[in-house]
Amino acid sequence: METSVIHEGYDSKDMLGSLTTPLFQTSTFTFESAEQGERRFAGDEDGYIYTRLGNPTVTVLEERIAALENGERGLAFGSGMAAVSAILIALTKANDHVLCSSGLYGCTFGLLTMMKEKYNITHDFSTMETEDDVRAHIKPETVCIYVETPINPTMKLIDLEMVARVAKEYGIPVVVDNTFASPYLQKPLDLGCDVVVHSATKYIGGHGDVIAGLAVGKKEFLDEVAMTTLKDIGGVMAPFDAWLLLRGLKTLPVRMDRHCDNAEEIFKRLKDHPNVANVYYPNDVTHSDYPIMKKQMRRGGGVISFEIIGTKKDAQGFLNNLDFLKIAVSLGDAETLIEHPATMTHAVVPEEFQQHMGITDQLIRLSVGLEAWQDIWADLEQALDKISVSSDAYSKVLESR
Ligand SMILES: *Cc1c(COP(=O)(O)O)cnc(C)c1O
Repeated sequence: METSVIHEGYDSKDMLGSLTTPLFQTSTFTFESAEQGERRFAGDEDGYIYTRLGNPTVTVLEERIAALENGERGLAFGSGMAAVSAILIALTKANDHVLCSSGLYGCTFGLLTMMKEKYNITHDFSTMETEDDVRAHIKPETVCIYVETPINPTMKLIDLEMVARVAKEYGIPVVVDNTFASPYLQKPLDLGCDVVVHSATKYIGGHGDVIAGLAVGKKEFLDEVAMTTLKDIGGVMAPFDAWLLLRGLKTLPVRMDRHCDNAEEIFKRLKDHPNVANVYYPNDVTHSDYPIMKKQMRRGGGVISFEIIGTKKDAQGFLNNLDFLKIAVSLGDAETLIEHPATMTHAVVPEEFQQHMGITDQLIRLSVGLEAWQDIWADLEQALDKISVSSDAYSKVLESR
């Protein structure tokens, strides 16, 4: 994989020896003759036509991500949500049903809500802790199982091999949002799932300078997506964004290991801090999901969520007291980013679902960056120390334990 992230899908001798993939910043491609144009449109001759239908810089990225996820074909999109919506719309029609993990990216939740209102495409949530949890929610009209793991923001894990096995019995495709793990830590297609989607904005880009999405799966299905919900809805990736992602991808394994190293150090210290109630991180030997993490993930990743002891005001005060750590949504960047899910990333999720998803007013999501972990911890610790917890709040936490 360390070699594929650098070389797959590109050979410099095809491009005048250019070491890095050239940026084809062009909207359209010229034909040598009218007949050649006809052949290209008819599909009788390979070649580029118009950048919404394909672009050489974007093609290299698509081939690279397909190789990294061990899939047949990759497709690039203008954002993670363009990828999620193109895949979900391709799989569903009016009156169908989608079964989801009980925890979804906020805008994916918003998309499913819209699909229900406009097309009566209904959805249910399942914790998917056991085979029976999955089976219990499958209906005759279920056409897709849509899973996030680790689940944002509570870091709960779902056993992908188990879900894929059950889904196969019913002939239902499983789509996995692999954004939080990246292909370096988890490969859902190897576990029997059918489609992987990514917000490439996060770890794949890795530098906080691009919004982009990717999808990988069987050639037949992604060919169909390419010609319908990608081409005709039009959420394509810009060539320059593909170029930035190709650059970011080269260091994915190196960055992910450093994100994981840093997160492991921060996790240990958060667990021991007196003003922290619960800490959620996949690589936690005391967590009931730990066997799933050992089974399907290389390491625990770079995102940690934790609850402070106190109120919403205390959580906001904690963020305001940070010195160099940045308050921002998104994750997977070199910079450590910290946010308050209940009022930011998951503000669109109705309160009853927030409760159900474990998103409390005290919950903080931390995307551990690539800085020295000692500096990250020093900043977190000084801000945590400033939370003045009433003895009342402490006793509540003790009771709940
Ligand atoms: C950010 C994110 C998305 C959406 O991606 P965009 O690139 O912002 O459109 C989808 N799923 C998950 C898990 C994400 O973190």
